[in-house]
Amino acid sequence: MRAMVLEGIGEPLVPKELANPSVLPDEVLVRVEACGVCRTDLHVVDGELPCVRPPVVPGHEIVGVVERVGHDVEELVPGMRVGVPWLGGTCGVCAYCRNGRENLCDHPEFTGYTRPGGFASHVAARAAYCVRLHDDAEAVATAPLLCAGLIGWRCLRRTGDAWRIGLYGFGAAAHIVTQVAIRQDREVFAFTRPGDTAAQSFALSLGASWAGGSDVAPPKQLDAAIIFAPVGTLVPAALKAVRKGGRVVCGGIHMSDIPTFPYRLLWEEREVVSVANLTREDARGFFSTPTAMGVKTTTQTYRLEHANEALADLRHGRFSGAAVLVP
Ligand SMILES: [Zn+2]
Ligand SMILES: [Zn+2]
Repeated sequence: MRAMVLEGIGEPLVPKELANPSVLPDEVLVRVEACGVCRTDLHVVDGELPCVRPPVVPGHEIVGVVERVGHDVEELVPGMRVGVPWLGGTCGVCAYCRNGRENLCDHPEFTGYTRPGGFASHVAARAAYCVRLHDDAEAVATAPLLCAGLIGWRCLRRTGDAWRIGLYGFGAAAHIVTQVAIRQDREVFAFTRPGDTAAQSFALSLGASWAGGSDVAPPKQLDAAIIFAPVGTLVPAALKAVRKGGRVVCGGIHMSDIPTFPYRLLWEEREVVSVANLTREDARGFFSTPTAMGVKTTTQTYRLEHANEALADLRHGRFSGAAVLVP
């Protein structure tokens, strides 16, 4: 198999020819058709997550075809289309797993982080954590749904019945959440890097009712905000934009420090919460809703060998929507 491997923190990924992974009894071998590039992959490469132990093959928005199944696998057979998301495994016995919060498992496995990921031609995945996909699902268009879509979905659900929603950072997740939110009759306000008129136009083209820089106040008070950009200064900015009782949801796995801010921004029962990882129920829920199925992703495709270019373009915001690698 071919893979793009992180051999040292902060270094470019290195193309490698490796032996195909052996498949444990509860695993399947997946031939990768497409793998999305997520901001979390940048945090892995940059060593901003605590358990990055090179060599690592990043990538956790995998769409592929099952080629081989382990002895104990019953639910998947060769030829089936599957998605492999960020949540690669859980312990099943900790208090969180037993109480429907496996996203917070004490001993989790994550694809492209603690398990090999999809910046490769093949990947082994635990069958129970794969998502069944339709045979006609278009691989490149579907890949970003596996993380940007699922985490965005979990964030959107955390806003409850909020009607006016602010999205801070208009990348892969926001471009999907915008479409879902509008189908749910919510109103979307898009906040981009100040001066990023391309991202603002992109947001408006997807149906956002307003778009502007994150340094600007929205024209109306928001009921809730979701922060996708890894920028701590956006927390007080979003608190300022939400109404009394409003909620700010932080959707990223890593963020720069949040600056001190006056208590009055939090006062009046405003809340700041974070969303961590996803559950298998999130994945099933998202992929079974017609709302999600109608999402049209905007993608920029790169050959697998050009993964470093894709990561650099993501870092510098050089494309709209999501980057996807194709082996
Ligand atoms: Zn657990
Ligand atoms: Zn991700």
